[in-house]
Amino acid sequence: MFKKIGYLILVAIVALLGTVAFKTFTNNPEEKENIAVPKADIDKTAAAERLSEAVTYKTISWSIDAPVEAAEFEKLHAMIDRAYPTVAAKLEKTVISDYSLLYKWEGSDPSLPAAILMGHTDVVPIEEGTEQNWEQPPFSGKIVDGAIWGRGTLDDKVSVFATLEAAEYQLKQGYQPKRTFYFAFGHDEEIGGPNGAAKIVEHLTAQNVKVAFTLDEGMVVVKDIMPGVTEPIAFIALAEKGYLTLQLTAKAEGGHSSMPPQQTAVGKISRAIARLEENRLPPALRRPVTDMFDTLAPYMPTSLKAVISNRWLLEPVLVDQLGKGGATNAMVRTTTAATIIDGGTKDNVLPSTANATVNFRILPGTTIQGVIDHVTEVVNDQDISIEVKQGNEPSKVSAHDHESYHNIKKTIGEVLPDVIVSPGLMLAGSDSKHYEELAENNYRFIPMRFGPDDLGRIHGTNERIMVDNYQEIIQFYVRLMENVGG
Ligand SMILES: [Zn+2]
Repeated sequence: MFKKIGYLILVAIVALLGTVAFKTFTNNPEEKENIAVPKADIDKTAAAERLSEAVTYKTISWSIDAPVEAAEFEKLHAMIDRAYPTVAAKLEKTVISDYSLLYKWEGSDPSLPAAILMGHTDVVPIEEGTEQNWEQPPFSGKIVDGAIWGRGTLDDKVSVFATLEAAEYQLKQGYQPKRTFYFAFGHDEEIGGPNGAAKIVEHLTAQNVKVAFTLDEGMVVVKDIMPGVTEPIAFIALAEKGYLTLQLTAKAEGGHSSMPPQQTAVGKISRAIARLEENRLPPALRRPVTDMFDTLAPYMPTSLKAVISNRWLLEPVLVDQLGKGGATNAMVRTTTAATIIDGGTKDNVLPSTANATVNFRILPGTTIQGVIDHVTEVVNDQDISIEVKQGNEPSKVSAHDHESYHNIKKTIGEVLPDVIVSPGLMLAGSDSKHYEELAENNYRFIPMRFGPDDLGRIHGTNERIMVDNYQEIIQFYVRLMENVGG
């Protein structure tokens, strides 16, 4: 009898190992069908000089309450009309909320849903005290050491101007797309896009425009971030995380500190933060992160490949491991970050209130209400109130088994034949969130090649883009217009 059970267990183990091994060793990279296409004849230096000039206009979004830098945006608009005369002459331009630009390039087949190429013309300010750390002044647009330097070269004048370069080129070639294109350039993305992207979407919705997909800033081409993957990876983000800022306020008896209660407001708020850090939201492996691992597993070392290829069996192990790492943690979890704490004014006075600000980045599949419920339960203190200061839900997850995605992927293969293309999750936010209802799919990708220190240049010091890479980005948009436009 025992012999028989032992035998059955052995058979089961062999079968299990066999399945694991089979799933591991049959999970191989897909055949690359990269067909490099002839490059469009675009003057690299002249294009770089146009982006350089665009950088010199200080189109800064200071804050939601601050006035728009009207004169700077007007100068930028005038420069666009001057530098791209064919775009100005042939495309229909609508100015939205005075400073956002919407171009329409009418397709020959109105039955096709439109494509929207997005970007934003505003930039973040230079953090006070860091001006001197720039190798080239931040609004100089200097072209030095093979790079264009300055605020906006990565985020996000790059995609606005690369799109304009590509359109100018295609119009001059006499190219006529079947599908209608819109170029949508918001002016307030850095403060949430309430007057730019949101109003552009209102305008398009009122006109009953049908949209196949949007392509916006988001993820880029990176190297050496996935274990064992030596090729650069182009991540097309299918979704972006949600954003939530909560303010926790603790109330307590005020008075003199000579006869204090067991816990002051400061003590209560500290305890609440400690509890939130000890009880983070649980990790979960969900789309589009699962799409990413499924795509990249074949390129990974056998041990990792075995775990990812056998998620049916090993998912808990994988989620646990990913939840420990810094970058991977943010991919599988709604993150918790206590960012501000405030309370008390004098060493011998009990404060009647103390408060803390906690910022969450919400994983697709979780909701703002879900996070609030978690916080309420974990803090578990009647003297602490919870208030939403700012919030938007995570985006929907767009499809990657879709014609639009394949067109973007194909274009990357043609222009950057050395890279692997993978779906991804954007950890920050973009204007795309306003386009969810309007477009069937929202993708977030610019073919910027990032090295290990480039991420810190976005919103940081020494923002710059290599002239050669800028040329690749323009070529990408040129080819995308053909692949998408038909
Ligand atoms: Zn941006």
